[in-house]
Amino acid sequence: MLEALLVGSSYVTAHTEAKQQPEGALLCGRYELKEVLGKGGMATVHRGWDRQLQRAVAIKLLSDPEHAERFFTEAKRTAKLHHSSVISIFDTGKDGTSCFIVMELLEGETLERRLAREGALPIGEVARIGARICEGLSAAHELGIVHRDIKPANILLITNEAGVPDLKVLDFGVAKQIDSSTLETDPGVLVGTLITMSPEQIRGEPLDGRSDLYSLGMTLYRAACGSWPFKQETAAGLLFAHISVKPNPLPGGDGRPEFSRLSRLLERLLAKERSERPIDAKAVRAALLAIFEAERPASIAEATTVEAPPVPNLAQGAPSQVPMELAAEEPAPSKFTTALEVDPGAQATKPQTLFHPGMLKADERSTRAPGLLASVPQGLAKRLAAYPALLLLVLVVLFRVSTWVLVGLGLMALFGLAAYVRGSRER
Ligand code: ADP
Ligand code: MG
Repeated sequence: MLEALLVGSSYVTAHTEAKQQPEGALLCGRYELKEVLGKGGMATVHRGWDRQLQRAVAIKLLSDPEHAERFFTEAKRTAKLHHSSVISIFDTGKDGTSCFIVMELLEGETLERRLAREGALPIGEVARIGARICEGLSAAHELGIVHRDIKPANILLITNEAGVPDLKVLDFGVAKQIDSSTLETDPGVLVGTLITMSPEQIRGEPLDGRSDLYSLGMTLYRAACGSWPFKQETAAGLLFAHISVKPNPLPGGDGRPEFSRLSRLLERLLAKERSERPIDAKAVRAALLAIFEAERPASIAEATTVEAPPVPNLAQGAPSQVPMELAAEEPAPSKFTTALEVDPGAQATKPQTLFHPGMLKADERSTRAPGLLASVPQGLAKRLAAYPALLLLVLVVLFRVSTWVLVGLGLMALFGLAAYVRGSRER
């Protein structure tokens, strides 16, 4: 069965040795290649210089020209996206066999590197990073673009122009191809890629934005506790786990409410069925922002004791200092209606929200205007009905009492009975 899964899957990273380009090489007579900034599964990224516009850039060089089509598809998709948490594309080109993308140059480190150095991050920081990734994902999903490879290595942590810690989502929209030789030869690279892959991606099904939400769940789980929810070391074990093993709840937290909230959110993001995940990135962002707000003082305290990199303004400042994009009013989660470019048929089947229907019921109850009888407490209503009726019976049987006493007790019993019946119906 696993073999069938592997064959059926079409989204596993093809890893080839990145071709070294000489520093100082000039591409298309315009872009100078400088030192290597990083390597991924399919490309090497260099610092570069654009001679025409006289500015520093990043140049992503494809390792294997066979993947040129997919490489340029990535560029085209990302170029459509204009969002402050998504890498900007400036140009693409081909010089001989060298295919390249010219991008904005970013100074920072990947989330993967930060996690390797620091292990788990404070909950407030995890929520801030997650909320920001959700903003980029929202913008992408609205354009019908599914990232397909959200993982710590594709999140670049930077400091933005305002001096505020921020991030950029890299590496958009590449449908990576499975290569059976890769499965055997490079387990390290595979684990780094497969560990965030959604069950529907593994099954080779059409994807929608909720596939990215699963990968985001994996990424945030790792950021919150320093390790992955699945410990399987082989590709087959990992693929099987994604499809049928329920991840353990987030370890640690000492029962802190915000930790439990994050754990419950991650549980939903990591649901095997996409219909059980939150409806979209906006809903996840709203949930993460609520955790971030609640954790704000703790984030500051933890960041101070571990001497982490500068604490984000988001975590330090008053609400008025929160950057516009994160401070903006959160629209109520709505049905996922985006027609995704890559998978036009894939739509949400069962809209889900992060709100419990029970909450709404409680609100309705509290806003309904109480009538005279409804305002009588149920315990008192019961007694008003039962005691006079009992007394009435005893008086009639044993003694001769005045008609007025009998009428009074009768009315009390009726009033109590009515109040009790009304109260029971409202419940
Ligand atoms: P791949 O598609 O091969 O995974 P990525 O786009 O993820 O390639 O880039 C690989 C690495 O290069 C990243 O992890 C990051 O360290 C670095 N990198 C990518 N883009 C930039 C950029 N615009 N500026 C600086 N470094 C970058
Ligand atoms: Mg990458």
